[in-house]
Amino acid sequence: MEKILGRMILFAAATIVAAQFMVAQVRIRDPKQAIDEEYTKKIREYTTEPFFNSPWTDYLPASATVPTPKAVLGDVAGAPNKLPYSTDVYRYMRMLERATGRVKVVSIGTTEEGREMIAVAVASERLIADLEQNRSRLARLADPRLINMDDAEAERLVAASVPIYYITGSIHAPETGAPTALMELAYRLAVDESPAIQAIRDRLVTLITPMVEVDGRDRQVDVYNWHLAHPGQNWPNLIYWGKYVAHDNNRDAMALTLKLTQNVLKTFIDWKAQVLHDLHESVPYLYDNTIGDEPYNAWLDPILTDEWQMIGWHNVSEMTKLGMPGVFAHGDFDTWSPGYLMFLAATHNGISRLYETFGNAGADTLERTLTPQQYGRTWYRQNPPLPKAKWSQRNNNNYEQTGLLISLDHFAENSKLFLRNFYLKSKRSIDKPKNEGPAAYVFPADDPRPGGQAELLRILQLQGCEVVQAAAPFSVTMRKAKSDKDDKTEKNEKTEKNEKKEPATEAVQFPAGSYLVRMDQPYSRVADMLLDYQYWSPNDPQRRPYDDTAWTFGEFGNVKVVRITDVKVLDAPVRKLQAPLQAPGGIRGQGTVFVVNHNSDNALVTLRYKLRNARMDAAEEPFEFQGVKFNRGSFVIRGVSPGELRPVVSDLGLQAIAASEAPSVVTHPIRAARLAVVHTWLTTQDEGWWRHAIDNASIPFTYISTQAVARDSNLRSKYDVIIFPPAGRNTPQAIVAGMPMWGNALPWKKTPETPNIGNLDSTDDMRPGLSWTGVDNLKNFVQQGGVLLGSMNTSDLAITFGLAPGVSIAPKQKFKATGTALRTKLVDASSPLVYGYTDNLAVYCFECSIYNLSNLANGGGQRPAVEPERTTGRGTKDDPDLPQGRPVVDLPEIPKAEAWEALPLTDEQKRNNTAVIPPEFRPRVVLRYADTKELLVSGLLDGASEIAQHPAVVDVPVDRGHVVLFSNNPMWRGETQGSYFLVYNAILNFDSLNAGRKKSDEAVTPSAGR
Ligand SMILES: [Zn+2]
Repeated sequence: MEKILGRMILFAAATIVAAQFMVAQVRIRDPKQAIDEEYTKKIREYTTEPFFNSPWTDYLPASATVPTPKAVLGDVAGAPNKLPYSTDVYRYMRMLERATGRVKVVSIGTTEEGREMIAVAVASERLIADLEQNRSRLARLADPRLINMDDAEAERLVAASVPIYYITGSIHAPETGAPTALMELAYRLAVDESPAIQAIRDRLVTLITPMVEVDGRDRQVDVYNWHLAHPGQNWPNLIYWGKYVAHDNNRDAMALTLKLTQNVLKTFIDWKAQVLHDLHESVPYLYDNTIGDEPYNAWLDPILTDEWQMIGWHNVSEMTKLGMPGVFAHGDFDTWSPGYLMFLAATHNGISRLYETFGNAGADTLERTLTPQQYGRTWYRQNPPLPKAKWSQRNNNNYEQTGLLISLDHFAENSKLFLRNFYLKSKRSIDKPKNEGPAAYVFPADDPRPGGQAELLRILQLQGCEVVQAAAPFSVTMRKAKSDKDDKTEKNEKTEKNEKKEPATEAVQFPAGSYLVRMDQPYSRVADMLLDYQYWSPNDPQRRPYDDTAWTFGEFGNVKVVRITDVKVLDAPVRKLQAPLQAPGGIRGQGTVFVVNHNSDNALVTLRYKLRNARMDAAEEPFEFQGVKFNRGSFVIRGVSPGELRPVVSDLGLQAIAASEAPSVVTHPIRAARLAVVHTWLTTQDEGWWRHAIDNASIPFTYISTQAVARDSNLRSKYDVIIFPPAGRNTPQAIVAGMPMWGNALPWKKTPETPNIGNLDSTDDMRPGLSWTGVDNLKNFVQQGGVLLGSMNTSDLAITFGLAPGVSIAPKQKFKATGTALRTKLVDASSPLVYGYTDNLAVYCFECSIYNLSNLANGGGQRPAVEPERTTGRGTKDDPDLPQGRPVVDLPEIPKAEAWEALPLTDEQKRNNTAVIPPEFRPRVVLRYADTKELLVSGLLDGASEIAQHPAVVDVPVDRGHVVLFSNNPMWRGETQGSYFLVYNAILNFDSLNAGRKKSDEAVTPSAGR
């Protein structure tokens, strides 16, 4: 009964809405427009309710010359049980190009696996013919320096130009609807003669990349086809999307490590586009998260955030009028991080947009039941999605296309306004030094890490930023760095004089050769955003950050970056750099022995692997040689000719000093370790970033799964180092257990039906995990001299299952650090793990584990939560109590240690205790978190005192090998390049990690390892 009543109300609503349609339809549909009846019938058939469609998309215009998507799909776009591969989608787009002068297809690059990426331009014949001239006009609006910031000239250019609206689909491979929606959209835009579509065609260029994650798309189609071929069975989860990362392909807009991000950015910049509209499919039914929720990114021009409101709300408003349920904006997506693909527009004076429509992760038509949170009515969602509905891919295609057509219509109507805004935003970016500042960021020429500096500057160049180099020394006025002493005197003076004091300033000089990123350039905002610090208040009303709260590139890159507000910096004499920046490399002096300083530049590890036959040794102490100071860990290279070495060091940007004799310093060999990288079959997301870094460093490795670890009882015969990168958010128990074993097997392998999967790794069944045998095999590997390196939850695994005796994990109370930069301090500078590092490295922490150390294998004997206070008795607070009527006795010393150390053992603990760890096997803390006051570098931090001073990186000797534990993640999204070498040091020094280890006073047991 209730159901019938519900349907009657919906019917009545549909009637009212139908009346409103009449008005809109005159523009949207030309009554004379010929209709493809057969295609239109199928659209109706595959749409599960009439109100899940709109007058924009409930028919298909007919054309005598232009093929519909059916020509390739064999059915309509969004048809059930059909997902086209990338090649089919491209074939169709190129058929369109051949059939009409309104479509142009261009190749925009390839993916990591060599698949093509394309962009499809759709506009009137006149605009397609005028693309180049239009581009040159837009280029002048994009860089107003080219027209001397002349507003009148800008106005003439605006009048003559049309904007570029760039739409990207399926960056998230399991979100499968966009490619077919965009095929059909291109067709509609090319052939429909309604006034609205004609206006879109005449007033703007629609640019379409039908799928961004092309490698992932083809794998997803494989998985879907497997599912169709195995009805009634569970199907494998899409464990690999791109070659390296899965969902995080939409977090790469800062470091630009992935080809797909580079290709989309290049297209956006080359075309001088105004909008980047990225399509996702994980929220019912259309969430326009363009406006999102606070906190907004703090470096954006308010003109853009105003445009978000305008466009986003217009979208909701129009679709509400069409009676389509579940269309909303705002929501809970915070607009803080600039890592999302769409943000490439926000950071380059365009407009970033994102839709979440509702997909079924494939082309099945399904009864979908929503959660109260999803169907609840809220202030920003007055017509929420239905609690339960039959949902099809066609519905999804209808929503995607309707939203896009309304946006294109709105943009076409207001094209001059948005072009003016584009010019204004570009101009205000150039005016930045005069207004909010800063004036420039300076990368001093004397940075001890020229390679790291070049790496960071290359990212900025890739972002389209101009980098210049100082031709002479220059000086600027800067605020004086405050010391504690200054603080006190200032306070005293203030109370004395009771007046405000101007902040103290000083002149600071920078050497010639320093690099500058001036803020008087059109893409100043992205540089400012990446290089500045972030602060997210622990009391921010937004309690759940959507993503990382910090990214400060200078800190994560371990590169000196100086923010300059003094506009005098713009007078520094500079020369422009055209080519990608490269640190200078070469050989100085004569001889057959070469010394290369260890400064933790990532190129050093590549050097070791590039010259496999050379002998390389690491200095265990700092030394001076040929008048140059060398750090601990510096390379002494023999067995290679200058002719062989020179091109390699030049290419890598490394400086070698040649001599006839080696320096006199204690060394140990650094070998090209045989490396394995382990992944689970639960997720490959986070380890993908590690693989990307390791591949970039040209370190060869074997890629193995936890199942391969479980099968191999002799890992040590194959590998010297096993890296087990973080495995998502899985618990150590889940990594061991894998997936539950009921139901059918889940294969991940290449077959004739699934040609695109199984190339990175394969298995007959994804379900089994590491297993206890796997844990045991890892333990044996270490005992036989291997190095096992874990991070975050894989370190937790090593600790939890007894592979790291003496380390335990403390429960968290209030501590919260959501993708935050935390300061560390060097505890043991002589450990090979920190060769090349100076102090105060910032590391990436995502709710990292709090480690405690103990000299007992079971983790016992830890300090009490609160310091014991003396009891009531005689004397002052610091005096001992004295029992009366007996001689005074000395009190035993209460063990004390720093938060990163283990408490010294008491005699009581040492007696007949099998848990006592022999001194040579006690965990060696290499890096610890800084003190509470200095801990936060950037981002959100709450409950700092819980982790302050606790160990961050620990080396645990186990028998003949080592377990290296990172509580942080040293290899993250191409952003933490400054901490990569902590990992590379473990690889290079795998058989000498005990170098520099302090001898204990305690007796050494006979079983001592190396
Ligand atoms: Zn998505």
